[in-house]
Amino acid sequence: MTIEQKIKALTDLLNQYAYEYYTKDAPSVEDEEYDRRYRELEKLELENPNLVRADSPTKRTGDVILSGFEKFQHPYNLYSLGDVFSKEELEVWEARVRKEVSNPEYICELKIDGLSLSLYYEQGNLVTAATRGDGSVGENITENVKRIKDVPLKLREPIDIVVRGEAYLPRKNFAKLNDERELEGLPPFANPRNAAAGTLRQLDTKVVGKRGLATFLYQEASPATNDSQEEVLEYFESLGFQVNPERKFAKNMDEIWAFIERATTLRDQLAYDIDGVVIKVNDLATQEELGFTIKAPRWAIAYKFPAELAQTEILSVDWTV
Ligand code: NAD
Repeated sequence: MTIEQKIKALTDLLNQYAYEYYTKDAPSVEDEEYDRRYRELEKLELENPNLVRADSPTKRTGDVILSGFEKFQHPYNLYSLGDVFSKEELEVWEARVRKEVSNPEYICELKIDGLSLSLYYEQGNLVTAATRGDGSVGENITENVKRIKDVPLKLREPIDIVVRGEAYLPRKNFAKLNDERELEGLPPFANPRNAAAGTLRQLDTKVVGKRGLATFLYQEASPATNDSQEEVLEYFESLGFQVNPERKFAKNMDEIWAFIERATTLRDQLAYDIDGVVIKVNDLATQEELGFTIKAPRWAIAYKFPAELAQTEILSVDWTV
């Protein structure tokens, strides 16, 4: 196979996986497999920039949107996140930030394994809720989001604000849902993330109410009125949003790594799935200075946990030796 053919094959394969994952909410491969292939493509594209295809998944966020929902044009682009898979890669990212910014400060947050959504409030009232979609155009899922009990329909202040966060299905509700599906002879959802995504795209809003989705909000998408991410999160709490309590201020790589180790230990005890830790530059003016790549902010990075399945496989190999 020539490099060109290899790039095409990988692009097609990843686009197929992305379609199954984002549009159908039914992935056929583990995330780790997707991430591995994605990196393979990224490397080939870096070495052969003239062969990059226009439909490359490295050039876009998410996937096409389903019919059945109105399209919603986001006034502020909803970016994805760059990711790293080891301490060494994280160190490289941190060193790059440190080169651009003197004495950077960070906020470490849990990476909630759910579905990205944005909420639009006018005069404190929820007017629209939309999925991320391809980052620029999402699906209008307002009626469904109104059925999520922890999403405030009215904020404690009559402000105009656009907030971004993650909708997720708590593990307990996921297990209950799959038990019910089994009784009804329906195929189970692969994981809570897919169940949450499938639920939010239900055309019957009553079903959404029954399944017990929940949210964590983490970012102001409209121009921020605060100076730091830490203040944004506190402000969100005061407005009535659910904000994840597990977050930590960090000044250097050692402190970031200590939070990642804590999150790794905490992971199994949480009531919801997480797939990593997100590290963000705390100061919002510095975030603006650092800016964005084509699909992700330069001021944040996702550290992804090694996949549980892969760990099991590695362990079982060790045991047989
Ligand atoms: P992502 O899920 O890796 O990271 C970005 C997302 O993290 C954001 O959009 C946001 O929704 C979320 N997030 C959670 N907590 C956050 C926090 N505290 N702060 C900020 N953001 C937070 O990126 P993506 O573009 O949504 O998806 C790509 C990933 O999806 C791949 O790396 C892969 O793991 C998975 N995927 C899997 C398949 C498959 O077939 N299995 C296919 C496509 C994508």
